[in-house]
Amino acid sequence: MHKPEIDLEEEKREILRRYRALLRVCHRSRSRTERMRIRKAFEVTLDAHKDMRRKSGEPYIYHPLAVAKIAAEELGLDTLSILCALLHDTVEDTYITLDDIENLFGRKERTIIDGLTKISGVFDYQNTSQQAENFRKMLLTLSDDVRVILIKLADRLHNMRTLDHMSRDKQLKIANETMFMYAPLAHRLGLYHIKTELEDLALKFKEPEEYEDIVTRLQKTQAVRTRFINQFTLPIRRSLDQQGFQYTIKSRTKSVYSIWNKIHKKGVAFEEIYDVFAIRIILDSPAETEKADCWRVYSAVTDFYQPSPERLRDWISIPKSSGYESLHTTVMSPSGKWVEVQIRSERMDEMAERGYAAHWRYKDAPETPESKLDAWLAQIREVLESPSENAIEFIDNFKLSLFSEEIYVFTPNGDLKTLPVAATALDFAFHIHSRVGYHCIGAKVNYKLVPLSHKLRSGDQVEILTSKKQRPKEDWLHIAITPSARQKIKNALREEKKQIAEEGKEMLRRRFASLKVEWLSINLDEMVKYYDTDTTLDLYYRIAKGTIDLKKLRGFSLENGKIRFQRKQEEKQPETRIVSTAPAKGEALLIGDERQKVDYSLAACCNPIPGDEVFGFITVNEGIKIHRTNCPNAQELMSKYAYRVIKARWSSKELVQFEVGLKFSGIDDVGLVQKITNIISTDMNVNMKAISFEANDGIFDGQVRVLVHDTNHLNILIDSLKSVEGVLTVDRIHSEFD
Ligand code: MN
Repeated sequence: MHKPEIDLEEEKREILRRYRALLRVCHRSRSRTERMRIRKAFEVTLDAHKDMRRKSGEPYIYHPLAVAKIAAEELGLDTLSILCALLHDTVEDTYITLDDIENLFGRKERTIIDGLTKISGVFDYQNTSQQAENFRKMLLTLSDDVRVILIKLADRLHNMRTLDHMSRDKQLKIANETMFMYAPLAHRLGLYHIKTELEDLALKFKEPEEYEDIVTRLQKTQAVRTRFINQFTLPIRRSLDQQGFQYTIKSRTKSVYSIWNKIHKKGVAFEEIYDVFAIRIILDSPAETEKADCWRVYSAVTDFYQPSPERLRDWISIPKSSGYESLHTTVMSPSGKWVEVQIRSERMDEMAERGYAAHWRYKDAPETPESKLDAWLAQIREVLESPSENAIEFIDNFKLSLFSEEIYVFTPNGDLKTLPVAATALDFAFHIHSRVGYHCIGAKVNYKLVPLSHKLRSGDQVEILTSKKQRPKEDWLHIAITPSARQKIKNALREEKKQIAEEGKEMLRRRFASLKVEWLSINLDEMVKYYDTDTTLDLYYRIAKGTIDLKKLRGFSLENGKIRFQRKQEEKQPETRIVSTAPAKGEALLIGDERQKVDYSLAACCNPIPGDEVFGFITVNEGIKIHRTNCPNAQELMSKYAYRVIKARWSSKELVQFEVGLKFSGIDDVGLVQKITNIISTDMNVNMKAISFEANDGIFDGQVRVLVHDTNHLNILIDSLKSVEGVLTVDRIHSEFD
C-alpha cells in the first residue's frame, strides 16, 4: 500500500500554528510568567510525545494542544488547567513521571495529572455496574481538584470529535461510555453545550445511519423552519413594538440526539417533531413591572393565537423550587402546529440560564432550600462563565462531593460505603451493623483517632473501635444523623429505660403495699398527675432513678384503697425549672459547651422551634435570647457582637410544644377551610391557636398559628397541607412582622 509522504517541515509549522492558536484563546493567561509556563509545558509535551502519532497518522501533540484549547476556549479555565491539559497524557504514555511534573511545574500540577492518569483506568471493565462504581470513585478525586473532571471532559470531547479513525470496536466502547457517564456529568455541571455535543457525537458513532438521516432531513427543512418562525412571530413583534416593549425573541431547535430520542422512545415520526418549536420572548423590563409586562405580552400572543388552556405554566407568580421563573404557554399556529412560547424578563432569563449564580446577584430573591450541589454547580458555572482565577481557587476549597448529598467512605478492607453528607463516625458504625454501633467507642479515620462525633468526608477510610462495656447514650442522638442509626439508638434507649422502669415499678408496688394503697390504674393515674410525668413508664423510671423519692410521699388521703392528693406537689423536679417565656415543661435548650441548663427566651424576630439551627445571644437586660441562625438579625449580631454569641442546641426531649405561624395561598374553593382545619386538628392532631382566611377574586390567603414539637413535626404538617387540592403555597411565618 502506498503510504503518503510526511512533510516534516510542514508538520512543524502546523504544530506551531496550532500552538499559537492556543495562546490566542488563553485570555486568562495574560502575564509573561504565565505564558512562559504554558510554553514550557508545550515544549515538555512536544518532546515527550515526539515519536508518537495518533491513529489518524497525525502527530500526537495535536491532541493535547486541542484539549488545552477546549479547556481555555470552551470551558474558560485558567493557566494551571491549560498546563495540565497539555501534559495530561504524558505520565500515562511517555517517559515523564509524576516526580518530573512536580519538579518541573509544581505540587498542584502533580495532583491533577495524577488524578487524570488514574481516571483513564476507570472504564476498563466489562460490566456497567462496575463502571458506575468506578465512576463514583473517580468523582472522589473531585475533592482534590475539580479541574481533573473538567480537563477530562475536554479530553473526552476531543476524542469524540476525532473518533473516525478508531476501530469500530473502540468507537462503540468510547461512544457508550460517553453516553453513559460523560454526557450526564456535563449536564450536571451545567455545561449544556458540551453535553449536547457529546450526545450528538455518541449517536453519530452508535447509530451512524440514523444520525445521518436526521442531519440530512434537518438541513433540508431548515429554510421551512426559518420562514415559519418569521411568519409566526411577525404579528407578535408588531404588537410589542406598538406597545413600546424592548425585547428579544429567540427560537430553539432541537439537537439531533433529542430528535432521535423522541423518535425512539415515543415512537413518533420525524415529520411530527422537526418543527416542534419553542420560542422565547425576553423582555427588557424593570423589576417593578416585569410580572405585569409578562402578562401583557401573554395577552398580545394570545390575541393572535389560540392557547391550549391546560398548557399554561405560570412560574412567575409561583416560581419553581429551583428558583425558575417564566411564563409558558402553548399556542396553535395558523397551520395547525403547536408552538411553545416562553415569556420572561431579562432578570428571569438570567436566573433560568445561570441558576443560583444569578440568585446571589439579585439578593432580594427568596432563599430556596435547594441542595448544596446546586450552589456548588452555580459556582462552577459562574467560574466558567465570567470570573477571575480566585474563583477557581475557591472551588478547590469547597470540598463537597459532587453528586448530591452523599459521601463515599471506605472500610479498612476497601469496601465502599455510601452515607449522607455530614454523617459521623457513629453513623458509619451503625451502617456496618447495629451491634458495632451499640458498642462503638471511637474511630480511626485515615489511621487517626477521632471521637464518635467526627464528621466523615468522601474518601475517608474508617475503622470503628468497640468495647463490650459501651452502651448507647442519650447524647448520641445529637451525633447520629442517619435515620436508621437514630432509630436504633432510640430503640436501645427505650429498651434500657424499660428495664430500669421495671425496678421503679417494683419499688412503687412495695410502697403502695406498705401504705395500703391498692394497685389500681386509677391510683397510678393519680400518681402520674401528681408528679407531672407523661406516662406510667416515666413515673417508674424516675422512681428507679431516684428523682422521685417515695419516702416523701405524703399529703394524701385514702378512701377504700384509693389515693387522693390534697394539693399539687410543691417542689418541681429540678430539671423542669425554666423561666420566662420558655415553654411550660421540660428543658428545651442546652446552651454553651458545658451543657448546663440556663434560663433563656426565644427571640420574637425569628421564632425558633426545636430542630431549627440556633444560637444564643446575651442581651443586656433580658438574659439569653435564642435566635435561628438564619434569623434576619443573625448576621449583624454575629458580626458586631461575636463575643456575646454562644452556642445553643436543642435537647432531645420532644415533649414541648412551640407556637408557629403558617401562611397559605391558593385557589378559593368551597370547603377548603374545612379541609385544612381537618388536616391540622384531626389528621395531624395539632393544636390550633388562631386561624384566618381571606378570599379575593378567587384567590385566598390564610394564616394559622399552631403548636408543634419541632421542625420535623412542622414539615410533616406543611407537606400534608400542601397536598390539599387548591393549596398552592404553605410557608412558615418567620417573624411576627412578616
Ligand atoms: Mn487524552
